[in-house]
Formats: sequence, C-alpha cells, structure tokens
Amino acid sequence: MSPTTKLEPVPENWERALAVAAHPDDLEYGAAGAVARWTDQGKHVVYLMVTRGEAGIDGMPPEETGPIRAEEERRSAAVVGVSQVEFLDHRDGVIEYGLPLRRDLALAIRKYRPQVVITLNHHLTWPGGGLNMADHRNVGLAVLDAVRDAGNRWVFTDESGEGHEPWSGVELVLLSGSPDPTHGVDVTGYFDRGMASLAEHSTYLEALGNADRTQELLLDFARDAGRAMGCDLGVLFQAVRP
Ligand SMILES: [Zn+2]
Repeated sequence: MSPTTKLEPVPENWERALAVAAHPDDLEYGAAGAVARWTDQGKHVVYLMVTRGEAGIDGMPPEETGPIRAEEERRSAAVVGVSQVEFLDHRDGVIEYGLPLRRDLALAIRKYRPQVVITLNHHLTWPGGGLNMADHRNVGLAVLDAVRDAGNRWVFTDESGEGHEPWSGVELVLLSGSPDPTHGVDVTGYFDRGMASLAEHSTYLEALGNADRTQELLLDFARDAGRAMGCDLGVLFQAVRP
C-alpha cells in the first residue's frame, strides 16, 4: 500500500450488529473502541461469547475462573454500551470447528438478525506474524460459515422454529486483528472507552501481569491504524461480504 492510499471507512448505515468471540476479552483489544462509537450512534450491538474463558488463568481452576470472567465480560460490554452478553458454553481452549459450533452461531444470527457481524481474525497468524490460537481460528471461520447457514432454511432445519426464521440480512462480516485489513473505524475520542472496557477484565489482566505494556501496544496499533486511515486513532478490520 502506498503512503497516499487510505483504507476505506467501515460503512455505518446499519442498525444491528452481533459481535462473536471465542473468549471474554477478545473484543477488547481494539474492536471495543469501534463498538463504543457505534452504540453512541444509537446502534444495537450484542456480544456472543463461545466460551466463558474458563481455561484462561493458569493459577485458578476453570470452575472458579469461568464465572469471574463472564462477569468481567458483562461489565466490559456495559462500558461500551452493550447490555446483552450471551454465552454458548463451548469448552475454552478446545473449541472445535464443526457443525455443532456452526449450528449454535447460525441460530444466534437468526435470533438477533444483525446486518453486521463482528468477529476475530480467523487466519493462522496475527499482523506481525505471531501464531493465532486455534480457538480464534475455529470461531472466526465458523462465524463466516454460519452467516451463510443462517440464511438457508434447509440448514439446521430441526431448530428453525420460533425465533429462528432464516436470516440472510448480514451485509458485512468484520474481522478484527486480521493481517489483511481492508477497512477502518475512526476511534478518535473512543479509544479511552475501549481501554476502560479492557480494564474491566481485572482478574484476568492481573493474572497475565502485563497490563501497562498492553495499553502502550494498543495505543501504538491505534496510531498506526489512524495513519492508514487518515485520522488520529483507528481500528482496522478485514471486511468480508457474505
Ligand atoms: Zn482469545
């Protein structure tokens, strides 16, 4: 990309989004700033967590960690204007790509009828080349597939009863943290709320022990994204049209 080429802004002519992540905290490393902007515009955003992140803290058993991280995610969501957080209760660390996951995701898409679906990078690596873990890859790919599944009344038909009419209205899937970004959101004025949203994961971040470094890193990412877009602070997405 030449320095004069700017990434396109994410279209904002929509009303409802569903944001799907493998773990509590996944959306808080960038996407949350964009969510804050969108909920301020009056858009309705629902969070759907595939797990409760119960395998995320080495020194704490899953049965203790799960409820704590679920509650931290609810608080985190509230900071950026999201009041609905749903959990699918797949097992953290061993999420499988497959029909059960695609079915759960397709039913959620039929239930919430979003025009935009937000999820995490499904590629093998992050920008910069680090390995992206299997949970994120499996969820990202299953989300892309479930968007199509949701619109087909002959797929997962046994559960397409009340509240589960086919929904083919998803116009855009936005992948956060992709090594191939195509679009960006200007989060100037919203970055701090994104960070406040991340800070709600206090038990988890304390266990990781690198909160200060993370904040610096996310500010660097936001500045780089802003440069790519022609604004102060930004967050980048790979947009896929179903
Ligand atoms: Zn994660």
